[in-house]
Amino acid sequence: MAANIVLPRGLELTSLLGKVIPGQKVFGPELPDYDVLQNCLRCGRCLTVCPTYQETLLETDSPRGRLSLLRAVEDGKLPLSEGVLEHLYNCLDCRACNTVCPLSLPIGELILKGRAAYSARYGRPLWQRLSVDTFLTSARSLEWVMAPARIYRKLKLHKVVRPVLRFLGKKLSAFRVLYEMEMLLPEKLPSKPLHKTLPEVLPAYGERKYRVGFFLGCMMSQVLADVSKSSIELLRRLGCEVVVPKGQVCCGAPHEDQGNKPKARELARTNIEVFEQFEGLDVIVSDCAACSGMLKEYRELLSEDEEFSDRAKAFSAKVLDVSQWLARVFPGEANLPQSDACAHCTLATYHSPCHLGNAQGVLEEPKSVVRALPEVKLVPLKDETKCCGSAGIYNITHIEMSRELLKEKVDNILDTGAQVVVTGNPGCILQIQKGLKERGADVAVKHLTEITLEKLSTD
Ligand code: SF4
Ligand code: SF4
Repeated sequence: MAANIVLPRGLELTSLLGKVIPGQKVFGPELPDYDVLQNCLRCGRCLTVCPTYQETLLETDSPRGRLSLLRAVEDGKLPLSEGVLEHLYNCLDCRACNTVCPLSLPIGELILKGRAAYSARYGRPLWQRLSVDTFLTSARSLEWVMAPARIYRKLKLHKVVRPVLRFLGKKLSAFRVLYEMEMLLPEKLPSKPLHKTLPEVLPAYGERKYRVGFFLGCMMSQVLADVSKSSIELLRRLGCEVVVPKGQVCCGAPHEDQGNKPKARELARTNIEVFEQFEGLDVIVSDCAACSGMLKEYRELLSEDEEFSDRAKAFSAKVLDVSQWLARVFPGEANLPQSDACAHCTLATYHSPCHLGNAQGVLEEPKSVVRALPEVKLVPLKDETKCCGSAGIYNITHIEMSRELLKEKVDNILDTGAQVVVTGNPGCILQIQKGLKERGADVAVKHLTEITLEKLSTD
């Protein structure tokens, strides 16, 4: 964080003949690995899938362009300035670029490192320290924000406040942000966050076949408690004893996304210690794709931590997204009679969350579960892996870009004629619900575990 962290290596700037020697000139904590940046072939394949490049057609808002900016910083040709940072933060961290790069460069991760390097060099703005670093550290700390939100919804204040915010939002950007946040909030909030009501161990119904650690995301506990209740109920019906450790904290994804890697590491260490206290876990699952993706990345996040690197590897090796686990144990454990009759079938389509499909490579498993459900017909969604514009807090920090992407996603959903959109990430659920609500569309948005439990219960 000190100003003397970025050090020029004077001796490397010139040779004895006075010529510039190519190579890294600028060093500092969290800067992306120079060798990896250098590997980019500049082939441009990543441009074809990058949503921000497709919208702006600016090289600096493309994956290749962002890597070039970071390379120029480390070459000493560009300062690590706010201008560079703006292009790094315009990135959705959707990881679509990672999936097409012929060299499998971890482009999204490199961009996040660039953000972290800026924070380490210059510190963090007050709004990030207040929101991400303070309230978003656990489901418990999020209560400071969500308790007033619950009162707001209970008193139905949105009937008055929403039109006012919509009007003022056209004139002042601060109100526009509040309007977007208000629209993201579900019409019904749980009366209590789930982490307050759950026991630590929930037995399987019938014979115990598996012992499953459950990572309860902060947003799932506070905003989408019913979804995680369904996930846990479903797991228990499928023969899983479910362990939800009390001491767990935020997975660290918002902190890594917003340039605070030290905080992400601190949270990762806490979660590892908390889950290590429970022996014999067959798997650790999360029904929040952003969380499961982050938990799998602990091995890289803590790779240079002497005390935790091996423990992080062991922890990450146990993590699966709940859709992966379901694809393994369902419908086998559910004994579902399969029915081909589709006279009353629910038409469902699937939106792939970026941090599940692109980041974790989990594309087919959720759809295989939906296909196994009785009386559900899965219809394909155009560009199912393209970002919906939620992207952590991108939908309130980059409203216009987020709305462009949401519009496209909702158009594609409506084109399918589906009655239900199935997905697996709280951010996507809230974002798509917002888009459908604004269009007055009668299409439900459900988590994979919700629709699975429903169909299991009605069968
Ligand atoms: S696809 Fe990979 S190698 Fe090609 S320009 Fe993009 S980052 Fe570079
Ligand atoms: S993560 Fe997404 S938005 Fe960012 S550079 Fe890659 S494709 Fe573009």
